Amino acid sequence: MTKAVNVIDVEYEQPEQEGAVCATKYAWARVPPEPSQAERGTLKDKIRRLLKEKNAVMVSHYYVHPDLQDLAEETGGIVSDSLEMARFGRDHAAQTLVVSGVRFMGETAKILSPEKTVLMPDLDATCSLDLGCPVDEFSAFCDQHPDRTVVVYANTSAAVKARADWLVTSSCALEIVSALKDKGHKILWAPDRHLGGYIQQQTGADMLFWNGACIVHDEFKALELELLKKEHPQAKILVHPESPAEVVALADAVGSTSAILKAAQTLDASEFIVATDKGMMHKLRQLNPSKTFYEAPTAGNSATCKSCAHCPWMAMNGLAGVAHVLETGANAVHVDPALIPRARLPIDRMLAFTAGLKNGQSPGALVPHFGAA
Ligand code: SF4
Repeated sequence: MTKAVNVIDVEYEQPEQEGAVCATKYAWARVPPEPSQAERGTLKDKIRRLLKEKNAVMVSHYYVHPDLQDLAEETGGIVSDSLEMARFGRDHAAQTLVVSGVRFMGETAKILSPEKTVLMPDLDATCSLDLGCPVDEFSAFCDQHPDRTVVVYANTSAAVKARADWLVTSSCALEIVSALKDKGHKILWAPDRHLGGYIQQQTGADMLFWNGACIVHDEFKALELELLKKEHPQAKILVHPESPAEVVALADAVGSTSAILKAAQTLDASEFIVATDKGMMHKLRQLNPSKTFYEAPTAGNSATCKSCAHCPWMAMNGLAGVAHVLETGANAVHVDPALIPRARLPIDRMLAFTAGLKNGQSPGALVPHFGAA
C-alpha cells in the first residue's frame, strides 16, 4: 500500500517591495514517508545496481537524509557542501549525476556539465533564498546600482546567477568579498541578509543587501542559546553565518557546513551546540563518535515546519525518489541553454578563485581590478 506523502506549508520572506504591507510569502514541501527497514534495504540494493548500470554517481548535501549521505559515500559519490558538490559533479567521469539537495544545486551541476544528465529525487525541492530573489525584481535592483559588483550566494536560480559577476558559497564568501574590497569594488549582495551582514562586519566592505533569509537558520534564537549554554557550560558553539547576528555573536566558530565539521574535529572540546540544519548531526556524530552534539534552540516546534531546524525542502529527498529517477530518467534538470554561458561565468570565477587559493596564489591576484568584474 502506498503511504501518504506529507505536504507541509512553509513561510518564507520576500524582499520588501515598495508599498508592500507584508514581505512574508508561502510555499510548500512534499516530504516522502520514511521507508521501513525492509524497504530501505531493498531500495538501497536497487540504487547500488542502477548506479552501476546507468554510469551514475550520487552527489548529496549534508542536510539530506542520512541514508542518502551514507549511500553516496559508499558508492563512490560525495556528501558535501554546495561548493564541493559543484566541483565534484563537474570533475567526475559519470555521465549521470543524481543530486540530492535542493533545486539550485541541480541547476549548478547542469550549468557546469550541460552534456551530463542531472537527476533530482524531487524537482520541487526549493530554497527560501531562491524563492525570495525573483530574477525580474533582482535585475531591477542591479540596474539601479550599476556601480556595484554583483555578488550572489549559490542559493539562487540560474537566471539570477546569469545577472551576477561573482558567485559565492558560505565557505568562500569571506575571502572573495575581502579580495574584491581590496581591489576597490563596492558590492551588491544577494540574497541572504544575515550572511551578508556577517561578511560586511568581518571585511568592512561597502555592501548593499537584498533582503532574503534562510527559513531554517533565521529561526535560531540567541536567548535560548544562552540558556542552553548555561546547561552545558563546557560546550563550544558552532554557528552557520546564515543565522541572525545575535546568534553568530555567541559562536566559538562561525562558518560553512565544511567549516563546522572542521571546527568540531579541531576545537579542544567534547561537547558542542550546533546552529545549522540538523541534517548535519549525522556527519558530525559519524566523524566524532566520542563527542556530544546538541541542536541549537529555535523558536520551538510550531504548527509549520519553520521552527524545526530542518529544511523542509531538503527533506523532500528520499531513497524511493533516487531509485525512481535512476530507473526511469524522470526529474532531469533543465536549464535554458541560452542562460548557461552567462550563468556559468560567476560560478567559474568562484571555482577558479578557490582553486587558486588552494594552490597558494594571493587573493588579490585572483580578482579583476576596479569596476564591475
Ligand atoms: S536550509 Fe535554508 S538555505 Fe539551505 S536549502 Fe533550506 S532554506 Fe535554503
